Amino acid sequence: MDSENPGEGTSRPSRNFIQQIIDADRANDSTVVVHTRFPPEPNGYLHIGHAKSICLNFGLAREYGGNFNLRFDDTNPTKEEQEYVDSIIDDVSWLGGDWEDRLFFASDYFDQLHEWAIDLIKQGKAYICDLSADEMRKYRGTLTEPGKNSPFRDRPIEENLKLFAQMKAGDFADGSRTLRAKIDMASPNLNLRDPVMYRVKHAHHHRTGDKWCIYPSYDFTHGQSDSIEGITYSICTLEFENHRPLYDWFLEELDVHHPRQIEFARLNLTYSVMSKRKLLQLVQEGHVAGWDDPRMLTIRGLRRRGYTPEALRAFCDRIGVAKFNSTIDMAWLEDAVREDLNERAERRMVVLDPLRVVLSNVESGKPMELQVPNHPKNVEAGKRDVTMGREIFIERNDFMEDAPKKFFRLKPGGSVRLRGAGIATCDEVVKDASGTVIELKCSFNPDTTALVDGKKVKGTIHWVDANMAADAEVRLYDHLFDIESPEDVPESGTFLDNLNPRSLEVVTAKLEPSLTNVEPGETFQFERVGYFVADAVDSKPGKPIFNRTVTLRDTWGKEQRKG
Ligand code: ATP
Ligand code: MG
Repeated sequence: MDSENPGEGTSRPSRNFIQQIIDADRANDSTVVVHTRFPPEPNGYLHIGHAKSICLNFGLAREYGGNFNLRFDDTNPTKEEQEYVDSIIDDVSWLGGDWEDRLFFASDYFDQLHEWAIDLIKQGKAYICDLSADEMRKYRGTLTEPGKNSPFRDRPIEENLKLFAQMKAGDFADGSRTLRAKIDMASPNLNLRDPVMYRVKHAHHHRTGDKWCIYPSYDFTHGQSDSIEGITYSICTLEFENHRPLYDWFLEELDVHHPRQIEFARLNLTYSVMSKRKLLQLVQEGHVAGWDDPRMLTIRGLRRRGYTPEALRAFCDRIGVAKFNSTIDMAWLEDAVREDLNERAERRMVVLDPLRVVLSNVESGKPMELQVPNHPKNVEAGKRDVTMGREIFIERNDFMEDAPKKFFRLKPGGSVRLRGAGIATCDEVVKDASGTVIELKCSFNPDTTALVDGKKVKGTIHWVDANMAADAEVRLYDHLFDIESPEDVPESGTFLDNLNPRSLEVVTAKLEPSLTNVEPGETFQFERVGYFVADAVDSKPGKPIFNRTVTLRDTWGKEQRKG
């Protein structure tokens, strides 16, 4: 990584701006408790951007010995579903976020919020407005022009109370009336121009059922939910910066516990889109196989792709927290999983694009019994048995007929080390009628220290025993989009124009036999090829399907240049 990596090279990581705020608060007042929350709206699956927010909020609570809540911001009944609630709970906990016994729903606070709304009406700080959504927009003004007061702004308190009760009782149609805060129609901040607190919506809610036909707005819900839960630092993304005065206004007027809202820059990644709306479109229009398609940067997709919670946490740590929006290179995410899997994944030999090699001096029917290490550094991972018979497969691109001098793999007359076995020397190249190489005839020397023609053998390649090998489907995933900023499109286009047509290639690979009985979700390094996970959805007992998590090196830039 480069110098953007926070804390790199120092003994104590540098403090991000949120830690600095908290440190200063605690220096002033040692009783300050760090209580954070992650507040998803259950209207979609979580993505890598949410992971950043979870790691940040949970990480701060843990670092300062505080608490972390998981709270569903479920105020919009028409877009929210139990399915999303369940998947979010599962994903947050998979990532390591621990809310202990503090799982909450904003909908649990509907009664309290309703009471608070009545309080504000009684104080003359909220009123029932009969303007339609369109009219309200017209009265609202613009960034350069002040708004106009609603003709209903000065309704008597008694009338407001009566109408609000009727709204709640279901006397009015959707959209016909709203409850608005009476703040300032001339405020330079549009959020303060008498924002809506409640609207009429005759809709079934996934938790409260048909109890309510009025629902509180995000702005009237969020801060008060934070307050009820005793949150001290309400951390959100930058778009909410100009909602902060409203967040503060409600809490001050209600005179309740007042958390501090702090905004940070949301995560953007190259070669991806992050908005839930676009992710939903990819799923609904069938551009991907579902929310958990391994090319999706949803937590589900990343899990199925073979990402580990440790890798995602390390990534979130490295990218740090900033106050200005920027886009992180996808290579950072890939590096994080590579580093993690390099430590933990056992090695196996798999040939993705097989070329048959006959070892002429090995007797058929008498395979050699070999033992190869499962991990180059971790001795405890032990060894496994591998056989090598007269016929093996190697990768087609590990052989080159007209090889340049620096090609240290197999070439006519050349020698290469077969991982864990010995040295093969290519004696003959067999071709079909069209001139395609279909087989190599080699002689085999089991002495792995051998010099050939006085020269040391430089290259080592992987292989599998042709007789023992199992066929398996292997899915080679790549970036879903083939340009860095898929959302940069001319007016006539859409981000879908930038889908990468080569984001999935399916091959039938030759596996070493030990790989046929792996558990779904188990991860391996296929030597010299990349990291792969047994697909958790489509694998069958004895018949795994493997997903490529990531290649061993970042080859994307290079391949792009080749076209
Ligand atoms: P979208 O705008 O894509 O629909 P959202 O922000 O509305 O997403 P929520 O469910 O409301 O989705 O998000 C829950 C929390 O996750 C919020 O606190 C939000 O700020 C945070 N979050 C969402 N996207 C990102 C991101 N890309 N980077 C960091 N935090 C994010
Ligand atoms: Mg949101």
